[in-house]
Amino acid sequence: MRLPRFISKITPGFEVIDIKEWISKGYIEIYLKNKEESPRTCNKCGHNLDNAKVGEHRIKVRSLDIHKFKTYLILKRQKHFCGNCKKVRSETLDFISKESPHVTEEYAWWLGRLCEISPVSRAAEFTGNSPMTMWRFDFARMRRLFQNYKIPKVSRISVDEVYARRQKYYKKESRDKRFFTIISDLKTGRVVWVSESRSKEALDEFFHIIGEERCKEIEVVAGDQFDGYKKSVEENCPHATFVWDRFHIMQTFEKYVNDDRAWLSGHMCKGEMKRMTRGKFKQLFLKKAERRDKFENRHINDVLKDNHYFVLLELIKEGMFQIYQSKNEIEARDKFDEMGEWIKQSKVFYNLEKWWKTFDSNWNTFKNYFKYRVSSSLSEGINNVIKTVKKRAYGYRNMAYFKLKILQVCGFLNSKYVPIDFQ
Ligand SMILES: [Zn+2]
Repeated sequence: MRLPRFISKITPGFEVIDIKEWISKGYIEIYLKNKEESPRTCNKCGHNLDNAKVGEHRIKVRSLDIHKFKTYLILKRQKHFCGNCKKVRSETLDFISKESPHVTEEYAWWLGRLCEISPVSRAAEFTGNSPMTMWRFDFARMRRLFQNYKIPKVSRISVDEVYARRQKYYKKESRDKRFFTIISDLKTGRVVWVSESRSKEALDEFFHIIGEERCKEIEVVAGDQFDGYKKSVEENCPHATFVWDRFHIMQTFEKYVNDDRAWLSGHMCKGEMKRMTRGKFKQLFLKKAERRDKFENRHINDVLKDNHYFVLLELIKEGMFQIYQSKNEIEARDKFDEMGEWIKQSKVFYNLEKWWKTFDSNWNTFKNYFKYRVSSSLSEGINNVIKTVKKRAYGYRNMAYFKLKILQVCGFLNSKYVPIDFQ
C-alpha cells in the first residue's frame, strides 16, 4: 500500500505502519512507529533524556479530520529518565499540542482559531468537545501566547476603564479593583494592554512595561476626566499631551443637560407640556438637531414655542456640538463663553452652571483636543466588543481569562498577529 506522504510530513521521525478505517463508526486510526533513534528530549524541561528506555505507553491523539472522519494517531510514547528533572519523563513529540497530550498541534491550532472567532460554548458544540475542555484549552493557549506577547509600537493611545466584575470577589475589595484599564492604539484601533483595576498604578504598569525609551515616543494619550490617568501620563511621559476623549466629555455634558431638563419639566411645566418633555421624549432633547427626523423636529418645535427655557436649553446643547466643530482653540473658547452667557441668563440651569465652572477651570486640558482631534468612535467600538466578550467569559468568572480574551478578540493576541513560530 502506498501511503499518502502528507502524514509523514506532520509527524516527522515517524512512519505509518497501518491505517484502520472504521467507516460505520465514523473514524480513522493511523498507526505510527518511531523510526529514529536520535536523542530524545524531556517533555517538561527540554533536557536530553537517558538512552535507556524505562517504559512506553500507547497514546491516541486526535488530529484534523480527513473528510468527515474523525482522525486519530496511535503511537507509543517512550519514557526515559531525565537527569535534570531527576524523574522519569515522557519524550517530547513536536506534533503534539503543548496544551493537551490528546490532540495534535494542528488540531489544537484549529480549535484555538475557533475559540478566537466564536464563543467557547459554540466551538465546543461544533467540535463535539465539552465546554469545560474547550475553555481550559482556550485559556491554556492564550496563556502560552501571552508569554511571548510584546506590546506593539505605539505613539497615540487611549486609556479607558471597563467594568469587569459584577460582585465583590473579596469582602474588602475596593470598587476600583472591579475595573480593568484598557489601553488601545489609536492608529490601529486595537487593544494593546489590559491592566487590572482602574487606578493611576494601572496605567503606570503599562508605562513601566514598555520602558522609559518607548514612553518618549508617546505623543498623545486620550482618556476620561479621571485624574489618576492624567497624573500617570504627566509622571511617565512628560512630553505627551493628554487629551480628553470626546465620548466621555459628551457623556457627562449630556448628564447635566438631562438633569436640568428634568428639573424644568418638574417645576416649570404643567399638564400637556410636562408630558411632552418627559419619558420617551427625554432622548430627543439630547439629540443633535440635524439628526432628528421630521416628527421629532415637530415635537421639539411644539415644546420650544411655549417655553423659552427649553429654547435656551436647546441653544446650549447645540453650542456644545458647535464647540467641537470649531477650527481652533480660540474659536472654541468664544463659543464656550457664549454658552456660559446663556447658562447665566437663564438663572435656572444650576447643574449646567456647575458643569460650566468645572469645565472652565480645566480648559487647559480640554483645549488640547484642537491640537489632536481624538475620535471617540474607537472607545465606543471597543467597549461594545468587550461587552460581548464579557458575556462569553462571565460563565466562568475568571478575571485572568477575561483579560486575555480582551487581548485576543480586540487586540493582537491571536493567530492573525502572533508570528507562526509561537503559535
Ligand atoms: Zn526534564
